[in-house]
Amino acid sequence: MENAKRKVKRDKCPKCHHDLKRIVSEKNGKPYWICQAPTEVCDSIYSERNGEPLLLIFGDADPTCPCPDCEAPMRMVKGGQYGDYWSCTAYPQCKGTLDIMPDGELPPPCPEDEAHGPMRIRPGKHGKFLGCRKYPECTATLETDGSPSRHKKNDDKEGAI
Ligand SMILES: [Zn+2]
Ligand SMILES: [Zn+2]
Ligand SMILES: [Zn+2]
Repeated sequence: MENAKRKVKRDKCPKCHHDLKRIVSEKNGKPYWICQAPTEVCDSIYSERNGEPLLLIFGDADPTCPCPDCEAPMRMVKGGQYGDYWSCTAYPQCKGTLDIMPDGELPPPCPEDEAHGPMRIRPGKHGKFLGCRKYPECTATLETDGSPSRHKKNDDKEGAI
């Protein structure tokens, strides 16, 4: 019985643009997506989220970008839900990640203590801001351009510029 859902899906391999095919593992019943290109061209496999392939591209380990948690080299991951980011190569033992600023650079280090490492990009009521990765132990915040945060809990009544 043909019961195909005619729904537009992100079902092209982001590496080689061949079609992806959904497979359900006989071992554990979990679905995953494989690239249809010949394996010598591309051997990508993608896990699934919400019925669609999770198209993450993992870059090579970059020793110039050490993990702030374990100092292993990190690698860039493209296509994440919230954009590109750095992921620790020791994953899954280490879940260290670093955000990437719109200009492609790492966020500035925590202004309270540089040992806290680069800050994280966080969504806020008034737009994005930078928060310390050691939150809630450290509550330092910065504007996304690295200037001191304007978003205080009690806005003083100087008014907008
Ligand atoms: Zn491919
Ligand atoms: Zn790490
Ligand atoms: Zn901090």
